[in-house]
Amino acid sequence: MSKLARKKSAIPLPTESSLKPRKSPFIWVTWLTKLLAGEDQCEWATWFKSHHRFDKLSGDGGFDQSKWQMDHAELIASTKEDLIGSEYVVTVENQNGFSFRGQKATLSGKPDLIAVREDENLIIDTKTGAPRLSHDLQVMIYMWAVPLATPRFRGMQFDGMVVYKDTSRRIKASRIDAKFVDRVTSLIKQVAAAECPAKAPSFGECRFCPIPSVHCPERIEVSEANMDCVTNLF
Ligand code: SF4
Repeated sequence: MSKLARKKSAIPLPTESSLKPRKSPFIWVTWLTKLLAGEDQCEWATWFKSHHRFDKLSGDGGFDQSKWQMDHAELIASTKEDLIGSEYVVTVENQNGFSFRGQKATLSGKPDLIAVREDENLIIDTKTGAPRLSHDLQVMIYMWAVPLATPRFRGMQFDGMVVYKDTSRRIKASRIDAKFVDRVTSLIKQVAAAECPAKAPSFGECRFCPIPSVHCPERIEVSEANMDCVTNLF
């Protein structure tokens, strides 16, 4: 047997036995944002992740994780430098992690940067891809949750910012109104419920989804767009 074949066979495949129920529902902010924005439709995926621990697939759809990590780290570092140059006190990623425990679920997040200055407080997330509504919503959930869930920021009001490589977008604190909070908390309650929502399998979502087919037999592995359908109508 070649070295490569030996290495491959050593990687355990996900099994039913790798599935462990969580003691109570746990939700990362990033699991909610695409559903809120309507960019994803499979609510079952978020429900399943919030209720279970399991061996995840990389679910990368061809995504280059190491390049993303380096580009993201570089963007955080340059944004941090700009903020310090503008006299903000800045904290980064792991320093900003929060765990917001409700009766139905725990909501966790880790904003890339939090910048505090006498006249202004900012929560910033940096993104290496194209702008999306879900990026704004991620920062908006942080703007709502951080002052409630992090003792050192308790009661403070934050504006938000999404920083891309060549541009950035500001989000006013006033966007965090009762309607927004209601939408977020309703989705959290839906995801935390014991009853599972419907699945919405599609190649576009399944290829990025970390849930293996042993737990989701409806998983779609092949795009219908790659299957030849021939017509003489045009
Ligand atoms: S594999 Fe597809 S259908 Fe299954 S949970 Fe993930 S996105 Fe939904």
